[in-house]
Amino acid sequence: MRPGQCALVGAGPGDPDLLTVKALRTMRRATVLLVDDLVSDDVLQAALRGRRKPPRVVHVGKRGGCRSTPQAFIERLMVSETLAGERVVRLKGGDPFVFGRGGEEAEALRAHGIEVEVVNGITAGLAAANALGVPWTHRDHAHGVMLVTGHARSGGSEPDWATLGAAVAQGLTLIVYMGMTRLAELQQGLLLALPGSTPAAIVQSAGTVQERQAVTTLAALADCVRAQGLGSPAILIIGDVLRARAALAGRERVAA
Ligand code: SAH
Repeated sequence: MRPGQCALVGAGPGDPDLLTVKALRTMRRATVLLVDDLVSDDVLQAALRGRRKPPRVVHVGKRGGCRSTPQAFIERLMVSETLAGERVVRLKGGDPFVFGRGGEEAEALRAHGIEVEVVNGITAGLAAANALGVPWTHRDHAHGVMLVTGHARSGGSEPDWATLGAAVAQGLTLIVYMGMTRLAELQQGLLLALPGSTPAAIVQSAGTVQERQAVTTLAALADCVRAQGLGSPAILIIGDVLRARAALAGRERVAA
C-alpha cells in the first residue's frame, strides 16, 4: 500500500486469528485507520501491535461518540485523508462487500479517481454456520445459499419472505443479516411457504467471546429469541442444512 491509497479491509467476525494475512499486512501499513463498530477490540489491537508509529485511529460508529456516524461523512473522510497522501484503511466487520456499504464506499473513492483495494474477510454468516457446526451447503441437505438483509433501506421494499421461503423449500439455505428488528414479519412470511418444523437458528456475536446461539424451529423462532434474550448483531439461518448438525455431531462422537 502506497501513500494516497485506500483499502477496504475485512476484519472478519472478531477473532484476530480469523484475519487473513493480507488483512493484517494492510492494516499494519495504514497511517489512518477508520474503524467500524462491528470490529472487535482484539482485531484493532492486532492491527496496532508492534507499530513504532501508530496510525491515527478514528472510530466511525457508535463507539466513536455519535449514535451512528453519517455515511456521507465517512466517505468524505476517506476521500480527504487519501487525497492528503495518507495510507487509509477502512476496517469493516466481516467482509467489506457483504452488506455494510463497502460497495458505496468504493464507488465514492473511485469517483474521486482514488485506487481502492478490497481485502476479503470472513463474513458473519459463515462464522455463524461454523459456530453451529454446519456447512452452508451440505450436499445431502442444500444445493445453495442465499445471503439476505432483513433491513430494507429507507424507502426500499421489504424482502418477499414467502418467495424466499419457497426457495428454502427447494433446498437453499437462507442466511439473514440484520434480521432481528423485523423478526415477526420474517417469520410470518416464511411460514407461508415452509412448515413450522423447518429448522431455524440464531447466532449472536458469532466468532467472538460473547457468542451465543440457539437452534429451534421456524414456528418457535421469535419466541425463542425473546425467551433467551438474544439480540443484535445476530445471524439467522433457516433451512434443512441445520439437520446436518445432528448427523455431524454423531460422526464426531464416533470419531472420538
Ligand atoms: N460486512 C459484514 C456485515 C455487515 S451488516 C459481514 O460480512 O459480516 C451488519 C450485520 O451483520 C449485523 O446486523 C448482523 O446481522 C451481522 N453481523 C455482523 N457481525 C456479526 C457477528 N459477529 N455475529 C452475528 N452477526 C453479525
